[in-house]
Amino acid sequence: MAERLERYEEQNIEELTAEKAKLETLVSTIADGAILMDADMQMVLVNPTARRLFGWDAKDLSGASALQQFPDAMRSKLAHPLCMAVSGAAENTEFRVNISEPIPRTLRVLLNTVLDQAKENVKGIAMTVQDITREVALNEAKSHFISNVSHELRTPLFNIKSFIETLHEYGEELSDGERREFLETANHETDRLTRLVNDVLDLSRLESSRRYRFDSVDVSQPIEQTLRTYQLNARDQQITLEHHIEPNLPGLRGNYDLLLQVFGNLVGNALKFTQAEGRVAIRAYRSPLKSSETIGEYIRIEVADTGVGIAHEDQEAIFDRFFRVENRVHTLEGTGLGLSIVKNIIEKHSSQVHLISEVGIGTTFWFDLAVYKPEEAEVADTPATIPAATEALTTVGTES
Ligand code: ADP
Repeated sequence: MAERLERYEEQNIEELTAEKAKLETLVSTIADGAILMDADMQMVLVNPTARRLFGWDAKDLSGASALQQFPDAMRSKLAHPLCMAVSGAAENTEFRVNISEPIPRTLRVLLNTVLDQAKENVKGIAMTVQDITREVALNEAKSHFISNVSHELRTPLFNIKSFIETLHEYGEELSDGERREFLETANHETDRLTRLVNDVLDLSRLESSRRYRFDSVDVSQPIEQTLRTYQLNARDQQITLEHHIEPNLPGLRGNYDLLLQVFGNLVGNALKFTQAEGRVAIRAYRSPLKSSETIGEYIRIEVADTGVGIAHEDQEAIFDRFFRVENRVHTLEGTGLGLSIVKNIIEKHSSQVHLISEVGIGTTFWFDLAVYKPEEAEVADTPATIPAATEALTTVGTES
C-alpha cells in the first residue's frame, strides 16, 4: 500500500512538473508581456516580452516590489487599480498608458485577480501588457488622411456650388463673357475634383494588400508612351522633352500600368515646375549599383528637369500625402498625392525613389529596378528594399 502510494505520488509530481513546463513555455513565448505578482505585489514571474517592454532584460526581479520597477507614467496609472485588485475590490481592470522609457510606447494593460480554490481570497495578480504603439499610430494616420481628404474635397465642391448658384440666381443679369467664365471655373474645379478622387483611389488601392502582376517590361515602351502623351504639352510650354535609353537593355521586373503612372506623374511634375526654354529628360541605363549573384542586375531610370528645384528642407516631405511646396512657395495646380503614389509604386517594385535637386537649377528623380529573372514569382504584394544606392548618387546629375 505504502509503495503504491509512493509511486502514485511520483507519477503525480511528474505530471505536475510537465504541466508547469508547458505553461512556462507558453507564457515565455506569447507576444504580450505577462507578469505575475503575489498578493503582496511582489514579482513572481515576468516573461521575456515584459522584460523587453520595460527594459528589465538582465535585472533580477524575483521578490521585488512590483510598483517600484515600472517607469513613472506606468507607476502612477497602475498604483490605484493594483491596490483595488489586491484588496479584492476589482477583478478585472484595463487601462492605456504612454511610457517614454526605455523607448516611447503606448501600452494596453489588463489586470486580472488570481483567486484561491474557494474563490474567496486573492492569491495574486496576473498582468498582461500589449504594445499597441503601431495600432495607435495607424489609427492616427488614418484619421489624419480622412480629415485631409475631406478638406481637399470641400474646397472645389464649395467653388462649384457657389459658381452654379450665382449662375442660377443672377444668370440673366450677367454678361455672356461672365457666364462663360463662371462655367469654365466650375468645369475646371470639377476636373480638380476628379483628379483628387482618382489620386485618392489609386493611393488607397496601392496601400491595400492587393496583389499586382509583375512581368518582364521593356522599359522603352512606357517611356515612349509617356512621351507621346506629354509631347504636345511640352511643345506648348516651349520645353524640350527628350529621352535617352541605353540600347539592348534587358527587360525589367515590373508592372506596366504602374510604371506608366510613375512616368506620367514624374514627367507631369517636371513640366509643371519647369519654365519655357527648359528641358525635361527621361533616361534609362544599366545601373552602376553593384550587383551580386543573389541580387542581380538593375536598370536605373531618371526623370530630370531644369525647373525650379526643391529646397533641401522640403525634399523628404514632398513624398508625404498632401504635401505641396507651393502652399508656401507657389500656387500651381496639384493634389499633393502624385509623389506618394510614385513612392508607393516603386516600393511595390522592391525599390526606393531618390532625388537630387538644387533650387533654381533643377530636379532629378531616380530609382533602380531589377532586371527580370524568369524564375521569379510573378506576383508581389509586400514592399521590401534593395541595398541603398546612395554611393552611386554622384554618378547621376541634373542635365542643364
Ligand atoms: P502635386 O500634385 O502637388 O504635384 P506631388 O506629390 O506630385 O503633388 O508633388 C508634391 C510637391 O513636390 C509639389 O507640389 C511640388 O512642390 C514638389 N515637386 C514635385 N516634383 C517637382 C519637380 N520636378 N520640381 C520641383 N518641385 C517638384
